[in-house]
Amino acid sequence: MDCFAETEGKRAHDPLYQRRAATTPATGVPVDDVDSVVDVPGAVIVGAGPAGLAVSAMLGLGGVAYVILERCGCIASLWRHRTYDRLCLHLPKRFCELPLMPFPVSFPEYPTRDQFLEYLESYARRFAVEPVFRRAVISAEYDGESWWVYTKEVITAAVGGEQAVLGCTMTVYRSKWLVVATGENAEPVVPEIEGAGRFKGQMMHSSEYRNGDGYAGKRVLVVGCGNSGMEVCLDLCNHNARASMVVRDTVHVLPREMLGRSTFGLSMWLLRWLPVQTVDRLLLLMSRLVIGDTARLSIARPSLGPLELKAVSGKTPVLDVGTLAKIKSGNIKVVPAIQCFREHGVEFVDGRIEDFDVVILATGYKSNVPYWLKEKEFFSEKDGFPRKSNGWKGQNGLYAVGFSRRGLLGVSMDATNIVEDIVQRWRDMGYESSESK
Ligand SMILES: Cc1cc2nc3c(=O)[nH]c(=O)nc-3n(C[C@H](O)[C@H](O)[C@H](O)COP(=O)(O)OP(=O)(O)OC[C@H]3O[C@@H](n4cnc5c(N)ncnc54)[C@H](O)[C@@H]3O)c2cc1C
Repeated sequence: MDCFAETEGKRAHDPLYQRRAATTPATGVPVDDVDSVVDVPGAVIVGAGPAGLAVSAMLGLGGVAYVILERCGCIASLWRHRTYDRLCLHLPKRFCELPLMPFPVSFPEYPTRDQFLEYLESYARRFAVEPVFRRAVISAEYDGESWWVYTKEVITAAVGGEQAVLGCTMTVYRSKWLVVATGENAEPVVPEIEGAGRFKGQMMHSSEYRNGDGYAGKRVLVVGCGNSGMEVCLDLCNHNARASMVVRDTVHVLPREMLGRSTFGLSMWLLRWLPVQTVDRLLLLMSRLVIGDTARLSIARPSLGPLELKAVSGKTPVLDVGTLAKIKSGNIKVVPAIQCFREHGVEFVDGRIEDFDVVILATGYKSNVPYWLKEKEFFSEKDGFPRKSNGWKGQNGLYAVGFSRRGLLGVSMDATNIVEDIVQRWRDMGYESSESK
């Protein structure tokens, strides 16, 4: 990190490192007042979730200078602030660990959310990853030589017992490499449903749901039947709420475990020897034996098998953790798509009208890359994912970590590839990497 310290030292003489009005380099569009410009000789990493932490840790070990920027005031904000209390990793821990550091042996096969956060905190400490917090990246673009990464910090203070916004500062980071680690789940997706404004009950996205406290006896409609929707329903049911779940599309629900092994692990193992269609047939056969015919519960399966569907569309199968049993016992009701909201409930597409006290939208998340990255070749403007599946490297020193729709396993693979590439370039530029010292 010596060269980084050197750059910091040179800042005092850098005409760029002072408050001034700026224009974005590629477009010449004026931006708000820039308070400071920071030159980073290595990489700027955007996002301090598991992906940003993994890249930072490995770059640090490789001796590459970097800065990691995070919009929230903590690492792994998705896990800390936008997940429900009963959440455990959906996959066994060996498929979720970050490079260089396994989970503690004392952790269960499926660590809880708090254990996962504990692991990430100790990961950051062990590899001395220190993000710059409350730095939301609002724009980034390449000027032919460097990446210009514009960040905004909202300054607040406690005034009269409340947090008041005192102002904003803008800092620009300039770097050779830009690593996008803002995640597949950066922003909640809220669908437009007719009459939503009319509904007088409580409506929220699943990212705001913590637990079923206070829902006992309430009529709750959960919109969406992915992993989150299913589990929120189960939690509500365990808290004596009257839960209904909207199932609009076909979906594959698989038991979390089969033949004493995790379904995910078993699938990976079978794929080593068998073609995907054969593995799919086996998975569906075993699912039928373990959980029965889900179509009889109004949850029809897609025509493609679970792994093939995942490969062609990115749609992840749901791993059942107990919701199906509650549907079978009639404690959770399955309902069709919503036609429109009414004042006290909804009308479904089959014409049925029902009253609800609460609606929880378990309608997923989306990438926010198109909102801030001024680049269109590597990242698709449409969904904010790399255009090429499993793409981790774009042009001009641009990288993407954690966009392969393969969860934390994909994060580790991307991070390893990216760091190998950057360390090589770092050496080519004449800097020493820690390996060559
Ligand atoms: C409920 C739930 C359960 C899940 N369970 C599993 C599981 O069991 N196993 C698994 O492999 N995967 C799971 N996932 C997927 C999981 O999101 C990822 O595997 C993991 O969190 C990805 O890490 P990430 O760093 O890519 O993204 P994130 O964890 O989303 O981190 C991205 C970070 O970037 C920050 N950020 C975003 N935009 C900006 C910006 N403009 N400027 C600065 N910072 C920004 C965010 O605040 C965030 O801290 C789950 C997801 C959800 C929603």
